[in-house]
Amino acid sequence: MALGEFDLIKRFFAQVSEASSDASVALGVGDDCALLDLQQNQQLAVSIDTMVEGTHFLPGTPADLIASRLLGAAISDLAAMGATPAWLTLALTLPGVDIEWLEAFSQRLAELCREHSIALIGGDTTRGPLTLSAQVHGFVPTGQALCRGGATSGDLICVSGSLGDSRGGLEGLLSGFECETHAEYLLDRFYSPQPRLILGQSLIGKASSCIDLSDGLLSDLAHILMASQGYGARLQLEALPISEQLLATFGEEQARQWALTGGEDFELCFTIPADKLPLLADLPVAVSVIGKVTDEPGIQLFLRGESCQISGTGYDHFMQNS
Ligand code: ADP
Ligand code: MG
Repeated sequence: MALGEFDLIKRFFAQVSEASSDASVALGVGDDCALLDLQQNQQLAVSIDTMVEGTHFLPGTPADLIASRLLGAAISDLAAMGATPAWLTLALTLPGVDIEWLEAFSQRLAELCREHSIALIGGDTTRGPLTLSAQVHGFVPTGQALCRGGATSGDLICVSGSLGDSRGGLEGLLSGFECETHAEYLLDRFYSPQPRLILGQSLIGKASSCIDLSDGLLSDLAHILMASQGYGARLQLEALPISEQLLATFGEEQARQWALTGGEDFELCFTIPADKLPLLADLPVAVSVIGKVTDEPGIQLFLRGESCQISGTGYDHFMQNS
């Protein structure tokens, strides 16, 4: 690399570290380790996410969008536990030194660190096929983190925001948009996930379980049900929150299919006893009740009161008793 590894770190990442640092960071980027002050009565929530070019994003994706996708997905895991972001470490594998790429990436990274109050405290930089790993650390009051296990029969199943948009954005990216009107919105939902931090923190002491939607609602809800001693769920498909942009671009049937199975919306799915729901007030994001936890295992889908199921290409209706 024309620019040495240490110069590169200094030029692009030391500043981000300094700018995002707070009182908890006794020593940031530059030594063998970062030194961090821990807080009493708090647990550290830790998660890492990796993105590989060609697997998680298309070659040629702009660097600022890679940054927002990486950080959004990583911080979303903190949101799902009800944690408050604290520190970030970043492992970068770069095919070479591309100054423009590094400028765009580190600038967006700095903006996101500010936005989510997370301090870049260190990382690793190596040469190789473009791969990025973000490890996030956050705090949660001891014993209070929102876990996947904990749902019980009768709990309401809720989701934040709207579902399927990210899958719609990806579809447009891969196959083009027939109608461009909402392309920007859908692409933004794909590239710039908004971690639902305030919602996650508000759910502490109220929700019985929580997960962030990375694989798709049906798959992620199944994780909650498995972790919660094998309960099942009934979902009302008409209650799924679907954006007017997704609906207008891809139609109702496709939108519903993606709301159930499309991944990477990074909304929160949580269960909550019905009497605790009214305690969720003044949230910055809409919350929709989409179903209930049941004793009977498996996820049952209903559309306007009728049982139905989805197939690979859409969902089929059938009468309750047929
Ligand atoms: P070591 O060889 O002791 O592991 P490095 O030479 O890899 O240390 O890194 C020097 C310093 O720069 C360390 O403090 C490390 O955390 C930091 N660093 C390296 N790469 C990055 C990066 N991409 N982002 C932030 N900090 C980084
Ligand atoms: Mg060392």
